[in-house]
Amino acid sequence: MYAMYLRKSRADKELEALGEGETLSRHKRILTELSQKGGYEIGGIYEEIVSGETIAARPQMQKLLADVEAGRWEGVLVMELERLARGDSIDQGVVARAFKLTGTLIITPAKVYDPLNEFDEEYFEFGLFMSRREYKTINRRLQAGRLASAKEGNFLGRFAPYGYDKVKIENGKGYTLKANDEADAVKLIYDMYVNEGLTAGVIAKKLTELGYKPRNGGELFPTASVREILSNPVYCGKIRWGVRAQRKKVVDGKVVTERPRTDGQLFKGKHDALIPEEMWAAAQERTGKNPKNPIKFELANPFAHILKCRECGRAMILRRNRRGEDYMICANTLCKVSSAPYRVVEEYILEELRNGLNGLILVRSRKQDNTTEINKLRKINAELEKVRAQQNKLYDLLEQEVYTQEIFIDRQIALKEKREALESEAALISSKANKTTNYDRVIKNLTELLESYDTITPAERNKLLTDSVLRIDYFRDRSNRYRQMPITVSVTLDL
Ligand SMILES: [Zn+2]
Repeated sequence: MYAMYLRKSRADKELEALGEGETLSRHKRILTELSQKGGYEIGGIYEEIVSGETIAARPQMQKLLADVEAGRWEGVLVMELERLARGDSIDQGVVARAFKLTGTLIITPAKVYDPLNEFDEEYFEFGLFMSRREYKTINRRLQAGRLASAKEGNFLGRFAPYGYDKVKIENGKGYTLKANDEADAVKLIYDMYVNEGLTAGVIAKKLTELGYKPRNGGELFPTASVREILSNPVYCGKIRWGVRAQRKKVVDGKVVTERPRTDGQLFKGKHDALIPEEMWAAAQERTGKNPKNPIKFELANPFAHILKCRECGRAMILRRNRRGEDYMICANTLCKVSSAPYRVVEEYILEELRNGLNGLILVRSRKQDNTTEINKLRKINAELEKVRAQQNKLYDLLEQEVYTQEIFIDRQIALKEKREALESEAALISSKANKTTNYDRVIKNLTELLESYDTITPAERNKLLTDSVLRIDYFRDRSNRYRQMPITVSVTLDL
């Protein structure tokens, strides 16, 4: 459910005095169109009659903030970020805090802001963020309150799990769950898994055949949802706490969200169970025995995930032959590439790595500084600033009806293209500036690998390799009766 917030700025009032149309109804029309296009179901409208700049002077804003803090809305539609709080005010921190702590989206015609996305640069530019330390302190306090609530058996999630609806606790604070039409599917899933021994994939297919629909409105019941349902203790009447907190990290320059599995705590919930506790436990036991769950083993092949067959692209794997010798073979049984003794392949790879390292040290010594790149970046950023200002101005001109829809869209596309061109140029230059940093990392890792190779475990070798090498390609033509074919390996460093 989403809300809409409408407020006039001082400039709007002046324009109205000059005979402009009524601002709020125009804004309401634009935001309503936006909600229809984006599929945001509007559950409430906060319309500020007074035009105070501070939160204290805006009663509807106070109501909105209280509701956002209570997690009532998935997102709030507003004409621009500045309608919530001016960019330089103290209030801005209050707004940022409320939206960030509850992960409530801010949706404007120009962009959707996700306050939990720390990597959203524009969000950062508008200053709608708070310092990490401040966030952590408040978050800790908030978590303590949430833990107390979980112990009481309240449901704390943002969305009800499949099979339940989220309902307000009568005469009390917080939320609990109430079984809905989907509950039958949940019972069926557990029955098929525990009593009939079917796999999650087969269960998902059966549910689709039986006409059960997933939450997202698709036709196919996803296997992942079945797995999720089979592992969630909420179905035997429990509240799960402290499990699978979401964490964001940067891997290979991309933001990856992961939910590490940790042991959480279970509390008795106020909601009704859909299945008996023993049945849930039986499901967990079966999942634990599932061979698809990774069993920890000691890595024997230092080139795991790195060494690939040049012919077919599959991994080269380590196998012991009948005479007890280790061989590297292509994982693809149909591939025509010949295998080779592990010792020989290892020798070749180490030789290639040594060559690569020496070459890199030479190149690095020639690239001492990157001041030119930094100066260029500064210029591009200044231009980007200008384009962004022009983009903002565009909305004013549309609102003031100086621009028609057509001109607006033309101008918008032109600016967007200009901006994207500048951004990709900036990305290119900064990747050049970053290069020397990458060189240093690869040099450090490879030096360590080659110096300590004989004293570290295959797993440790693998770690250093994955941190410095993108891939190693292997090739050997099929040997014939007359001749053993040569082995080629080529190393691609992770620069
Ligand atoms: Zn192959």
